[in-house]
Amino acid sequence: MRGHNPLLAGLAGRCPNCGEGPLFSGFLKVAERCEACGYDLAKADSGDGPVVFVILLAGFPCVFGALFTQFAFDPPIWVTMVIWMPLILILSFGLMRPLKGVLLAAQFANKASEARRDGQD
Ligand SMILES: [Zn+2]
Repeated sequence: MRGHNPLLAGLAGRCPNCGEGPLFSGFLKVAERCEACGYDLAKADSGDGPVVFVILLAGFPCVFGALFTQFAFDPPIWVTMVIWMPLILILSFGLMRPLKGVLLAAQFANKASEARRDGQD
């Protein structure tokens, strides 16, 4: 498949090289190799850095929201916990995969353009 966007493929959890094969073999485990094109996905794995990034990204608005609710409405602390803790978890887990996919795809796109500069394409 030519002309696909590697970043969109990564966002959708697809191989950035062909946009066809699945990028993940587990929840956050990157597949060794693309089933569709055989691209070495393990080499492009961005590691666990994005996970920390996602937790910060999802955590900050939630912590601010929780603090705001606390000061504005002064609810009992368990109300804050019951509302915001699941939200933080859902947001974190919901964003982790697409974000990891995008970062991996960005790394892939970067390498691809470097290869082109070397005249290997
Ligand atoms: Zn592929």
